[in-house]
Amino acid sequence: MNTLLNDILHTCRPYTVQGRLANYIPELAKADPDKLGICIVSDDGVHCAGDAQHRFTMQSVVKPLILLQALLDSSIEAVHDLVGVEATGKPFDAFNYSDQALTGAHINPMINTGAIALCTLIRGNTYAEKFDRLLNFTRKIAGNDSMVVDEAVYLSEKATGNKNRALAYMLKAYGMIHDPVDEILECYFRACSILASCEDLAKIAYVLANHGKDPVSGVQLFPAEDARYVNATLMTCGMYDGSGEFALRCGFPAKSGVGGGIMGVIPRRMGLGVYSPALDRKGNSLAGIRVLQQLSNQLDLSVF
Ligand code: GLU
Repeated sequence: MNTLLNDILHTCRPYTVQGRLANYIPELAKADPDKLGICIVSDDGVHCAGDAQHRFTMQSVVKPLILLQALLDSSIEAVHDLVGVEATGKPFDAFNYSDQALTGAHINPMINTGAIALCTLIRGNTYAEKFDRLLNFTRKIAGNDSMVVDEAVYLSEKATGNKNRALAYMLKAYGMIHDPVDEILECYFRACSILASCEDLAKIAYVLANHGKDPVSGVQLFPAEDARYVNATLMTCGMYDGSGEFALRCGFPAKSGVGGGIMGVIPRRMGLGVYSPALDRKGNSLAGIRVLQQLSNQLDLSVF
């Protein structure tokens, strides 16, 4: 397996120069575009190659965790009523909702409006408490107590995240959220700034692949029904408006983030984490998708 992973990274390395670093959050533009890593977790153990231990901010890879926490803290019905599961076919921070379209039915937990709205369903008296709950849950699923927030990236997004502020005010204008926008976004921005490695992502993905059960301890960390809910939204909208293309190339549930990470879930088989910070035009890691495509071909990972 290690030889296979190293070969794939070697073949895909040329793609790392074809993408562009995210710069709308200024701190993300400081990433090293040469970094490339992969980790696979399965019943055969943990296999890593390249920069698999390098830490980067999760960005939108945290959205499945926000969804899971919201499912755990309220009901599937409450989550589904607030944020539907329609694949939006729009960029992650799209603005172009028509008046008719801005109802829960037309947003998705894997894009910004959906994730921002779902922060309100996390249990906690304050948004600081809600965020702590989410961080601890993320640590537990990744099996890594040392996961923390990258304060510089958090402050950078907080200083420049006016588009997310506008999206949140729009949700508020349409009665979908009620708490103060700045407090909700405090939770959302901090969540996006949680640092993770490829290995952390692969471990989280493996629990999702294993329908919520910790494969090592055998403890059920969240209900199988919630894992199915999350995996279905990853399949249909995890790569934003690139989800159809990703289904064709790779064929499994996955979530990308503008930090350059992608988490892949191979139901009942394995969890994957890849990292390369230069992005394609849809905001997905360009080389990361190539790595996953090759892996999918070699290990026959597509569910189609
Ligand atoms: N923090 C980013 C934002 O809200 C996340 C976007 C992403 O990773 O796609 O703009």
